[in-house]
Amino acid sequence: MTPQLTDNYMVTIAERLKSAYARIALAAKKYHRNEHDVCLLAVSKTKPADFILAAYQQGHREFGESYVQEAVDKITQLVNYSDIVWHFIGPIQSNKTALVASHFDWVQSIEREKIAQRLNDQRPADKAPIKVLIQVNISLEDSKSGCHPDKLASLAEFIHHCPHLELRGVMAIPAKTDDPQQQIQYFEQLRACFDRLKAQYPQIDTLSMGMSGDVEAAIAAGSTMVRIGTDIFGQRS
Ligand SMILES: *Cc1c(COP(=O)(O)O)cnc(C)c1O
Repeated sequence: MTPQLTDNYMVTIAERLKSAYARIALAAKKYHRNEHDVCLLAVSKTKPADFILAAYQQGHREFGESYVQEAVDKITQLVNYSDIVWHFIGPIQSNKTALVASHFDWVQSIEREKIAQRLNDQRPADKAPIKVLIQVNISLEDSKSGCHPDKLASLAEFIHHCPHLELRGVMAIPAKTDDPQQQIQYFEQLRACFDRLKAQYPQIDTLSMGMSGDVEAAIAAGSTMVRIGTDIFGQRS
């Protein structure tokens, strides 16, 4: 289908997926968590639909995408696999909200009211509410996406009043750091945001943090969803 594919890509993806599950199970055991409380989101951005299908055939169902048009193309190709759960995890521009609202089950990257309002208004009436996470700029970087932690409570309240959105938790992509203590501190700060929201809204159950490089620290700090791309589908060019 595309030049990226090699003859044995299905085997490779199956093996890498198995390793990712094993890595989660090992970290869960080490930090006294139940491995079934940590969901694996397979991040398939830039990779072809056939790669997603290879993971699907191993029983995997949760996939994350970051680029709207590319994702919609793949969702359309895979429309017959109706039990795939699609998560949007990338930045959302206003002119793309209608596509996101009509194609995705989850949106993890809400950072402002305007986007929440548009997703709510544009969700097709025959579909269940979109499950949403608020992306938090936990390391307070100027360049980073996400709402400032001080604005989290008011954005959560806004979303709570949107009938076509269902607030389920928080997500962050902390600043890259080689200092494990700093890394743990970011994850614990996000965990504190999660706990505060959960105390107010009992349906909140999702703490999306941890990527290929920092799965263990995230699970130690309470992550319920790790997002792994490269380790499953290979390097992105
Ligand atoms: C790309 C991406 C990932 C996966 O990153 P890898 O380093 O490839 O595992 C996770 N979360 C978000 C929000 C991403 O955009």
